[in-house]
Amino acid sequence: MLTNAPRGTKDILPNQANTWQRLENKIRELCKLYGYEEIRTPTFEHTELFTRGIGEGTDVVEKEMYTFTDRGDRSITLRPENTASIVRAYLQNKLYANASLVKLFYIGSMFRYDRPQAGRLREFHQFGVEALGEKNPAVDAEIILLAWEFLKSLGLDDLKLKINTVGCPACRPIYRQKLTEYFTEEADELCGDCRRRLEKNPLRILDCKVDALKDFMDDAPKIETCLCDECREHFNGVKKFLTEAGVEFVVDNRLVRGLDYYTKTAFEIQYAPLGAQSAVAGGGRYDGLIKEIGGEDTPAVGFAAGLERILLALELQGLVPPQDKKISAFVVSGGSSAEVYAFKLLTDLRRKNISAAMDFGKKSMKAQMKAAAKSGAKFALIVGEDEVASSTVTIKNLETAAQEKISVDLVPEKISQAVGE
Ligand SMILES: [Zn+2]
Ligand SMILES: [Zn+2]
Repeated sequence: MLTNAPRGTKDILPNQANTWQRLENKIRELCKLYGYEEIRTPTFEHTELFTRGIGEGTDVVEKEMYTFTDRGDRSITLRPENTASIVRAYLQNKLYANASLVKLFYIGSMFRYDRPQAGRLREFHQFGVEALGEKNPAVDAEIILLAWEFLKSLGLDDLKLKINTVGCPACRPIYRQKLTEYFTEEADELCGDCRRRLEKNPLRILDCKVDALKDFMDDAPKIETCLCDECREHFNGVKKFLTEAGVEFVVDNRLVRGLDYYTKTAFEIQYAPLGAQSAVAGGGRYDGLIKEIGGEDTPAVGFAAGLERILLALELQGLVPPQDKKISAFVVSGGSSAEVYAFKLLTDLRRKNISAAMDFGKKSMKAQMKAAAKSGAKFALIVGEDEVASSTVTIKNLETAAQEKISVDLVPEKISQAVGE
């Protein structure tokens, strides 16, 4: 028990860390390019923020949240996603006062009590962006492009962008009514979950995995027939901007988000080889959320991408390079006076930005030379009593086996020249 992490959590070990760093660097680079600034919100929030911000009746709120009462008797929840927290931070810190459009990104851990499987953990990591304050469909397109270019820049092929519109509070009720009527006639064929959704949230029936292939799904009413002028125009705008940017997309009428504050654009990027977990990024517009959380009526759009799934995709495509842990120099010492001399040399090298290591196990020089070879270092720096007495170092090129004795002062320069550090 003590030596097992909780179910659904995972250590990111040193040999995986550079892949994570590469991913995070790419995110930071790209967000800078698009003018999105990083925000870091707390890992936990008041539970009510999520029940309001994600919506009662959703799976996340009903079944998946890590909620507990703290010692001050407050109901606290580990964030299951970050959009609600960002809206809270936007309102609390009056970020809207600085700019009409606020563009933010985040990278962090989220928590959901869900059945763990490949690419889906209970503590998982998301990268996401949010653009708050603008209703222009160009912003939807910008967000979609950012997600798309991010995944493309990692080298992933086989990506598919699906977009849809889910209407707005003016036109969605009409569509909802049509769907309710249509699916009521098919109620006997619907799965148990969908029979419940029929009452509360008929739109979600459209993305039911269980019922997806049943005949009646194809003939279900399409939202196009119900859209108001504003929603139609907005959706046409998104499509126009994406087309202009040269991004291929398909319109998928079954792509829905169930809650009232999700409006207009919905999108998802899939990486087909991941099968059932193929969605690697998804998002859309949420023009009603900021008001729901207590702000002014403010349009907003965003997306989130699951980093574990993206890593799985990279592995599937052989895009995870081996860990590079090579160092430039390995210091080998003989005798106790040499050890102090060696330690000083080690420190000087590091201060001059040269990566260096030594073996602290007081092993024989032969064993230390083996350790030097194993470390992948380009040079072994050998110091024994002779070198200490003459302020020199025997520098051995471990690739060519050539060695020479030089003044200790010349060592950093010699290595820098050789390895280009
Ligand atoms: Zn509408
Ligand atoms: Zn169903």
